[in-house]
Amino acid sequence: MAEERSTPRAPNPGAVGSVRLMGVPIRLHFTFVLLLIFLVVIGLGSNQSPGNYTLFIIALVVSVLLHELGHAFVSSLYGIRTEEIVMFPIGGVARLERPAKPSEEFWIALTGPVVNLAIAGLIFVILYSQNRAVNFFALANPGDTNLADRIALGNLILAGFNLLPAFPMDGGRMLRAILSRLKSEYDATRIATWSGRMLAISMGLYGFIYMPMLAFVAFFIYLGAANEGAASRGRSLTQGIPVRAAMMTEYHTLTHGSTIRDAANLLLSTSQQDFPVMLGDQVIGLLGRTALLRGMAVEGPESYIAGSMEREFNSVPPDKDLSEVLPLMAHAGACALVMQDGKLLGLLTSENLSQFLLLRSVGLQPAEG
Ligand code: ZN
Repeated sequence: MAEERSTPRAPNPGAVGSVRLMGVPIRLHFTFVLLLIFLVVIGLGSNQSPGNYTLFIIALVVSVLLHELGHAFVSSLYGIRTEEIVMFPIGGVARLERPAKPSEEFWIALTGPVVNLAIAGLIFVILYSQNRAVNFFALANPGDTNLADRIALGNLILAGFNLLPAFPMDGGRMLRAILSRLKSEYDATRIATWSGRMLAISMGLYGFIYMPMLAFVAFFIYLGAANEGAASRGRSLTQGIPVRAAMMTEYHTLTHGSTIRDAANLLLSTSQQDFPVMLGDQVIGLLGRTALLRGMAVEGPESYIAGSMEREFNSVPPDKDLSEVLPLMAHAGACALVMQDGKLLGLLTSENLSQFLLLRSVGLQPAEG
């Protein structure tokens, strides 16, 4: 699978370990590690040797990685850097630094399944050259003699699964790319995520009755489709609108000489949760509610806020496209300072941004200027 993110973004939570391949950082999500442990445990009870079973699992993980590197390679041809590849239980996800255009997205998405088809094809050819036909029932009867057959079949299943025309599968991206020639990006995404949700619901129902593992996969597909739907709606409501149109221009600031008590009073008397900390007209930090509470508990109410504030904070220029800062504002309580040439112009918080989106969705146009 491939996923687009616009920069800047927060690092992926839940990712453990990191290696670099072709310049792309590759991380394992902790749920993927759990899946590997689970697979090893159930594999120990089957009638294959542990070494053979381990090889099979490694071959599948490598196949998924090559699939993702395929996406990364074609993205790089379009000048889109891959920020990272994260391995999840339902496959890898390649995060791209910017959204691909529909024509680019079609080829980027197609390459992943093509890599798996190529791996399967290569194994077919090698087996054929040794006068062996592929045993299509190898997966049902795993043994030490049919490892190559199982790796080939595993890759065929990976290709087929990813080609399903439903978000967040690669086929869903290809469907959206084709539809966006006829419809708006928003409508194209809506149809592709709708088919993703329908697929997830039918897989989930089938899984509950016959195959619990499938219900687990369906759950991830549903989440992926719902996330993409919401992200696309957010993008369509914010594209072409500068940050300055949505920022808060009336807000309170604190100075480096303020105490935790001053900050607490301001927190109670206003609806603001994040306070820029000023030294003259320079911003030297940001005091959020969590840092304030920590300061209150650890340092006491009479301590200076300079000891508790965050010195590293997100800042965005006022003319940046609002759709590009959405990933930064995606979690509750997120706050970014709107700054130009070191001067503070306003605040952007996830709360005021969601109010802005709400007003936009009922048709309010942002004010000019
Ligand atoms: Zn893919």
